[in-house]
Amino acid sequence: MRLRSVLAGLLLAALFLAAPVQAAGEGGVLILDPGHGGEDGGAVSVDGTPEAALNWEIASRCRDLAWFLGLPVVMTRDDYDINYPQEAETTRQRKAADQKSRLALVNSQENGILLSIHQNQFTASSVSGPQVFYNPKNGAQDLAERLQSLLNAQLAPESRRVAAPIPEEILLTRESSHPAVLVECGFLSNASEAALLRTPDYQLQLSLILIGGYLQHIHLNPEDMDEGE
Ligand SMILES: [Zn+2]
Repeated sequence: MRLRSVLAGLLLAALFLAAPVQAAGEGGVLILDPGHGGEDGGAVSVDGTPEAALNWEIASRCRDLAWFLGLPVVMTRDDYDINYPQEAETTRQRKAADQKSRLALVNSQENGILLSIHQNQFTASSVSGPQVFYNPKNGAQDLAERLQSLLNAQLAPESRRVAAPIPEEILLTRESSHPAVLVECGFLSNASEAALLRTPDYQLQLSLILIGGYLQHIHLNPEDMDEGE
C-alpha cells in the first residue's frame, strides 16, 4: 500500500535526520498557510466542498506531523473561521485585512519557509494532479521541484508537471521575506480527484509527502532557513 510505504519512509527519514535537522534548522520555522478561510471559501468542488475547508484539513495534518517530528511550525490562521477587524466592513476589505495580517505573521518570523496550501480548478474537468509553485527567494525553487517530483511519483505517476513561478498577483507569497512554495494539491473541477481530496487517507498522504519533502530540503539545504530579506 502506497500510504504505508510513504509513512514508513518518513519515519525512517525522521530517525536518521532528526538530530542533524535540529541543528541545521535551528531557529527556522515552517510557516503553514491554509489558503482562504472565513468569508473566503476559495474555489468550490463539483460536489460543493469549499477549497478553504480542504486547505485547512491538509495544512493541519502537516502541522501535526511537524509537531510529531519536533519541527518548529506556525500557521497563518488558527481555525477555519477568521476574526476580522471591526473596521473592515466589506468582504473585499475583510479579505485584504486577512491577507495583511497573514503577511505580518509570515514576515515576523526570523527564519523560515512558507508553505501555502491550495486547491486548483480548471474549465476542462479532465485535468487533474498536484501543481507546485515558488517565489523568487533563495531555495524556494529547489523545494518546489522536490515537492513536485515527490507528488508526481507518489500520487500522479503520469504527470509531467514541473514546478513553476508563483503568479505575481498573489500578495502573500510575493511580499514574503522568506522562500515561499504554493502547493495546489489537486483539481476541484475533476470529480474523482475532488472526491479523493475529501478523504482523510488522501489528505494524510499529501501531508506526509509535503512534510517528508520539506524535511529532506532543510536537511540538504540548511542555509535556506536563514535567508530572510
Ligand atoms: Zn486557492
